[in-house]
Amino acid sequence: MTTCSRNAALALDWPSFCCCEACKALGAQSISDAAKSRARALRKIYQHTPKDYRSSREGQRFIMIWRDGTALVPLDSLTDTEMLDRLGSALRAEANRR
Ligand SMILES: [Zn+2]
Repeated sequence: MTTCSRNAALALDWPSFCCCEACKALGAQSISDAAKSRARALRKIYQHTPKDYRSSREGQRFIMIWRDGTALVPLDSLTDTEMLDRLGSALRAEANRR
């Protein structure tokens, strides 16, 4: 069962990147907006990952995360929950810098 991450993203003031069945049913525009939002979120997460914890090979970006142990995973394999965690800290870090 997938959980809808829409409200959690909106709570961060970030457009939803959820692609659960219910969100997909909102239509093509919402699917393409979600894809754009996901790409922007992943870019921000990568930028905020310390250099020692990220790498890029052959055009694919990887970051080190904790999944029952540390693992280097492709950036676009992050689950919505993992993304929301990191996006939240990235946005807080930016807000503190201002
Ligand atoms: Zn959803």
